[in-house]
Amino acid sequence: MNSNQSGTLYVVATPIGNLGDMVPRAVEILQSVTAIACEDTRHSKKLLDHFRIDKPLIAYHDHSDKKSSHNILVRLAAGNDIALISDAGTPLISDPGYRLVLAARQQGVTVIPIPGACAAVAALSVAGLPTDKFRFIGFLPARTTQRKKVLQDLVAVPETMVFYEAPHRILETLKDSAEIFGAEHSAFVAREVSKTFETYLFGTLAELINTVAADSNQQRGEIVLILAGSEGSASTVSVDGEKILRLLLAELPAAKAAALTAKITGGDKKQFYQMALALKG
Ligand code: SAM
Repeated sequence: MNSNQSGTLYVVATPIGNLGDMVPRAVEILQSVTAIACEDTRHSKKLLDHFRIDKPLIAYHDHSDKKSSHNILVRLAAGNDIALISDAGTPLISDPGYRLVLAARQQGVTVIPIPGACAAVAALSVAGLPTDKFRFIGFLPARTTQRKKVLQDLVAVPETMVFYEAPHRILETLKDSAEIFGAEHSAFVAREVSKTFETYLFGTLAELINTVAADSNQQRGEIVLILAGSEGSASTVSVDGEKILRLLLAELPAAKAAALTAKITGGDKKQFYQMALALKG
């Protein structure tokens, strides 16, 4: 409890797969609070039963009726500690909670995180792409046109990008990404992290498309897609590529020379075209 006598709102991460990923402190806190706010009470009940946590559950969504958040805020104001969990992973990360945390802060309630699993961070930690800076995008739009527009807007982003994607859309999204970032752009797909059938695919977008298309299992389960930023892709132009481009440029127009260099080296046509313009200029 804090000095203004109101309770504390604990934002508690829960496992994204293996229940062993639940941190002991999360169990302690969930056992100590007066009530637990969650997305889906039936879903969370299973997790809580596993850890022998028997507390009243309050359904909470950022867009649900004001009554549930009001109820939580009143309980906090009365000095009760409340925990917020989501179906899996860290609340607020593509999950509900932001409005509640904001309202609690505005009310002077102490808000404390209990850190644990987060699919985005778990995937990033094994992607082998630069992590000194990264951009979390979350879910892409389900419709192709809007999805392509979002991807197009990200094409010049220098840092690694992290997406959550539905399994039935992963192939389409990989294809859209290849169209926009180039087939040789580096990417990573983390599927079913911390679960029995976890798989991790690293390669160019062209390679990932082939693997995912050939194996329907790769289009099942939960998926984090990571795309290299414009500065992190292994598809950066090689010295050999530049040599070839220079030779071809002496004989051919820039577009033709770039296309041929890309074919010979397996590199990215757009990048060679930009290089060709720079060499000519
Ligand atoms: N708050 C959660 C977190 O901290 O990761 C994310 C919630 S978001 C509604 C659910 C999405 O996260 C899934 O559709 C999937 O893209 C990703 N995700 C969750 N668990 C995952 C797992 N075990 N493996 C891969 N991706 C996962």
